[in-house]
Amino acid sequence: MSILAVGSIAFDNIATPSGRADNVLGGSATYFSLAASYFTDVAVVAVVGEDFSAEHENVLKKRRINTEGIEHASGKTFRWGGQYLDNLNEAKTDFTELNVFEKFQPRIPASCRNCEFLFLGNIHPSLQAAVRLEMDHVRMTGGDTMNFWIQGARKELVETLKLVNVLLINDGEAKMLAGEKNLPRAAQKVLALGPQAVVIKHGEYGATIFFREGAFGIGSHPFRAPALPIDEVKDPTGAGDSFAGGFMGYIASQPELNREVLKRALFYGGVMGSFAVETFGTERLQSLTREKIEARFQIFRELTHIE
Ligand code: AMP
Repeated sequence: MSILAVGSIAFDNIATPSGRADNVLGGSATYFSLAASYFTDVAVVAVVGEDFSAEHENVLKKRRINTEGIEHASGKTFRWGGQYLDNLNEAKTDFTELNVFEKFQPRIPASCRNCEFLFLGNIHPSLQAAVRLEMDHVRMTGGDTMNFWIQGARKELVETLKLVNVLLINDGEAKMLAGEKNLPRAAQKVLALGPQAVVIKHGEYGATIFFREGAFGIGSHPFRAPALPIDEVKDPTGAGDSFAGGFMGYIASQPELNREVLKRALFYGGVMGSFAVETFGTERLQSLTREKIEARFQIFRELTHIE
């Protein structure tokens, strides 16, 4: 089983209470594919500029990520600057420079045209939809978005949501998308836009999955997984995408697609998010092992289990 992931590859400038880092490799596709690569094969569709070197690409290749779908365009790679000085759970964007993204036309590598799992990372919703419409054998599409697109491309986003099975967004984005302050009601409004399930991430407090009645099995009860308490959160950037990578990666590695698998996937998402925030950029995600991931999954179990 393998996953095709489309999203941003970026150079980020990040400021957090632990310090700052400039020009670090980031982007939704980067964090997602590194996290998912510990569970399944991953192919990336993205665009980079001339400032993206072979060394940068090797970060992905070392994790056996298929980079055939990365287009090298003339110009500069997408850049994002953000800070978490007031609130570690929510980035305040300083700047967004689309650069090579402005003219990006995603091209799906032949080797992943039949992939059964698709992740539409945080990029313009029209590009997300274009990729989904080219994939004929998809069993499950996960999707992400953010306030930048909810405000700037709402109409296109609403169309794209009809093509997404599981949407992963944070609290604030869910409320903004739904125009509703109460979380369960916001989740129901988001589900009415198309997805069969919505995973709402609460930063350091975990994540809740809301199901549409009857989707992925019987029932409609939501399910919540906490986040692992981490001693020092150095850089929250990429926590959401790494969460999505663990979540989708685990699902793609399982023979069945049902509620129990989706619930367990929330914990694997939490595990990968917890690793991502321990260093600036993607450093921690580059050198994990499945054993370290399972050990943290066990801690999660003990944290939440009662007799
Ligand atoms: P998150 O997991 O939500 O913290 O995602 C962080 C990554 O999203 C950063 O590495 C940014 O480069 C990337 N990013 C920020 N804004 C955008 C945007 N408007 N479109 C695509 N990617 C973005």
